[in-house]
Amino acid sequence: MKNSQTNGHANGPTRGGAENCPVLTTANGAPIGVQQALTAGPRGPLLMQDVQLLEQMQHFNRERIPERVVHAKGSGAYGTFTVTNDVTKHTRAAIFAKVGKKTEAFLRFSTVAGERGAADAERDVRGFAVKFYTEEGNWDLVGNNTPVFFVRDPYKFQNFIHTQKRNPQTNLRDMDMQWDFWSQCPESLHQVTILFSDRGCPASYRHINGYGSHTYSLINSSGERVWCKFHFKTRQGIKNLMDDQAARVIGDDRESHQRDLFNAIAKGDFPKWRVCIQVMTQKQADGFRWNPFDLTKVWPHKEFPLIEVGELELNRNPSNYHAEVEQAAFKPSSLVPGIGPSPDKMLQARLMSYADTHLHRLGVNHHQIPVNKPRCPVMNYIRDGQSTLGEYGSAPNYWPNTIPGAPKPDPVFADPAWKLGETIVDRFDSTVDHDDYTQPGNLYRMFDDAHRDRLTSRIAGVLGQARKDVQMRQLCHFFRVDEDYGRRIAKKLGVDVDSMMAAGAR
Ligand code: NDP
Repeated sequence: MKNSQTNGHANGPTRGGAENCPVLTTANGAPIGVQQALTAGPRGPLLMQDVQLLEQMQHFNRERIPERVVHAKGSGAYGTFTVTNDVTKHTRAAIFAKVGKKTEAFLRFSTVAGERGAADAERDVRGFAVKFYTEEGNWDLVGNNTPVFFVRDPYKFQNFIHTQKRNPQTNLRDMDMQWDFWSQCPESLHQVTILFSDRGCPASYRHINGYGSHTYSLINSSGERVWCKFHFKTRQGIKNLMDDQAARVIGDDRESHQRDLFNAIAKGDFPKWRVCIQVMTQKQADGFRWNPFDLTKVWPHKEFPLIEVGELELNRNPSNYHAEVEQAAFKPSSLVPGIGPSPDKMLQARLMSYADTHLHRLGVNHHQIPVNKPRCPVMNYIRDGQSTLGEYGSAPNYWPNTIPGAPKPDPVFADPAWKLGETIVDRFDSTVDHDDYTQPGNLYRMFDDAHRDRLTSRIAGVLGQARKDVQMRQLCHFFRVDEDYGRRIAKKLGVDVDSMMAAGAR
């Protein structure tokens, strides 16, 4: 797919003759005649009215957006996920609906600790974040090349990351900080062992596995829930760098992973991963010797064997790094029907934290940026904010409403209730089992006649401006509060209650 930005001038003015190229324009699309500073005389000072130059300078000053605090340096590519094995008995997720089904995806790899300019071939965990553009919404699986993590309590997450970054005084990476933290957090031993094993310094992004790491829930079409872990096994084989090799690679090329991935895809050597799941029932979870929702633990393969579900192939490079890779926003809260969270504390925290970071980095409408935009229709009542694209036009912006054709929830997509010990987790209906009428009635009956008259006149004055069917629905509520209350408003609205009641009784 060609980038519309680069072809945006296809219908604009074109220079003729041998050049036959589009005419340069300002940001508002006005053709530019001369690209030289506007000055008072050839040696004179600049003029404020050179808005063409001002626009360029001002935009340049704002070219950078906040880099991610973690996973700042990354590479991304589009691809295709193909189902190879039927797992519909575990999940109703549309992406897994039938063998052979293909879904577009975008994968961003990253290193974790380094800033945006860091070298690729460093000893570090690698991020492995996949966005699947399913027809029931975007599903983001935001994982790593390791199946576990350093901490299990979200309170420690930000502190752990601080230890991986720079000393506040020296601005240097600091082994005191790192080991001071780790030596007090034995739950990090598993991940520390992987980090310092041979897999801690991958040769390229194509040669790593990916893991969803957290435990998620899968829900099938009968509303049954199992727990699940996701695995991506590289078809290219695992390849790592020994420490001396890594030092040489970094000396030659700080962008070795980006170059390897981009060039492989550009020449048609599309990297692939075998996608598998592990499944655990609630009964197995209850009997498991460790907490199955602890992010520092794996589920042993022998007890929970890998079940193949599909293959992910990367086959298209982005055409603009900033627009598509830097602005790609992955959040574990992007879940779809059939795939849900688990009691994993780290996952629960990340459900909020990742969405929040994108609000900060990209803004409240980051989901409208093309790389993040769902390929299916988006129908909701979230509106406005900075840089909104106005895609909802004149559609209603509030819920509940009785406007014909307005989007409504469909209970078909409701997740089953979730039993946590004795507590049921569900979306309970806040409108049932409540008395909404007695107390407004008690208040009304405290008012004297003149006050009742003023109250009902004010209400009738504004309610009379609403649609007739809305007036009637609201009128019924006033009657339920107090018959006199209802009758006074009805009279002021010109509604003949007695004839309506008589007609209803016939
Ligand atoms: P298995 O023997 O069934 O699995 C071993 C796993 O270890 C394989 O997935 C293998 O990946 C992977 N592996 C091999 N070398 C390394 C390394 N240097 N760093 C990270 N992973 C490596 O045993 P278990 O399932 O009982 O797991 C034993 C240990 O293996 C775990 O404690 C964990 O550290 C690691 N592991 C386990 C995974 C799991 O989901 N159970 C997943 C990944 C690692 P491959 O087949 O791709 O070579």
